[in-house]
Amino acid sequence: MTSQRYPWHASTWQRLQQSRARRHHALLLRGKQGIAKLEFANTLAQSLLCQSPADDGYACGHCVSCSWFVQNSHPDYRLLTPEQEDAAEPAAASKKPARKSTQISVAQIRELAGFLELSSHQNDGLRIVVIHPADALNQTSANALLKMLEEPPADVIFILVTSHPQRLLPTIMSRCQQLEMPAPSEAETLAWLEQQGIKDAQYWLAYSGGSPLSAAEAAAGSDKMQLVPARLALGQKLDPFGSASEFAALGMEEATTALQKWLYDLVAVSLGAVPRYHVRDSAALQALGKSVDLSALLTFQRQVDEARRSASHPLNNELQLEHLLLQYSKLFSG
Ligand SMILES: [Zn+2]
Repeated sequence: MTSQRYPWHASTWQRLQQSRARRHHALLLRGKQGIAKLEFANTLAQSLLCQSPADDGYACGHCVSCSWFVQNSHPDYRLLTPEQEDAAEPAAASKKPARKSTQISVAQIRELAGFLELSSHQNDGLRIVVIHPADALNQTSANALLKMLEEPPADVIFILVTSHPQRLLPTIMSRCQQLEMPAPSEAETLAWLEQQGIKDAQYWLAYSGGSPLSAAEAAAGSDKMQLVPARLALGQKLDPFGSASEFAALGMEEATTALQKWLYDLVAVSLGAVPRYHVRDSAALQALGKSVDLSALLTFQRQVDEARRSASHPLNNELQLEHLLLQYSKLFSG
């Protein structure tokens, strides 16, 4: 489990330390996507469980509790995410293709009850439940959680994390101490990316829509990520079948997102604006923009948005991509 510290977390950390004496039993961490809110929640969880935290509040990193934590085996810590639902049900048993769940189920919340009834494994210790992303709770699981928040078990702290607080039940929000985590400025983000040894930080930041973590991730997989613009720049010469299998290998979500970004820029350039994501591919986009059928492009863009929304269904990904890329190659004339 990572407990890397990010410079843009410092002010939130200090605010929390100042209010430590009046500790709330439920915290809601909110803020922009891609600023490491979950990592912050975990850093906080580790420090709350640590047997001898430092003066600045951070975990010591070497007590028994900290070693459990870094090995992902702390008995007083639970992380609820949508993925765990599938992990409980082996793919072999169900023969269905593994599907990334998008919801935190009521069964997951009910399983917490057992955890909450136990006392801490450490003397006078706390138990911590991190829920990420909290907007993945559905109506039923949110109501089940609300009951727990209304009658909080002693010495349990809930940390809810979300980029979309407007999707949470207002009754859940009102039970939590809310902390708005600031996003780093562009200069701060670029400095951080360069510190991580990322070349072309500016390019990757634009490509990722301004999020530091997504930029770092995209840069790390840059060979993969450059494949999409390289193929799409071929326009009507694109081989939809060969490219579909290459794109499918990136994962449907990744591939359709990359396709969306390219189309966004192609529309922008066709309308005389500058590209937002592919700042290095301006010339290729300009060239394509001259031969594209704009109204067909806009229709196609909606189809890709539709495909992006159903990207968690794994069936026939490659077939679907073939179909999309074939249509893409037909958008251009001569
Ligand atoms: Zn420790």
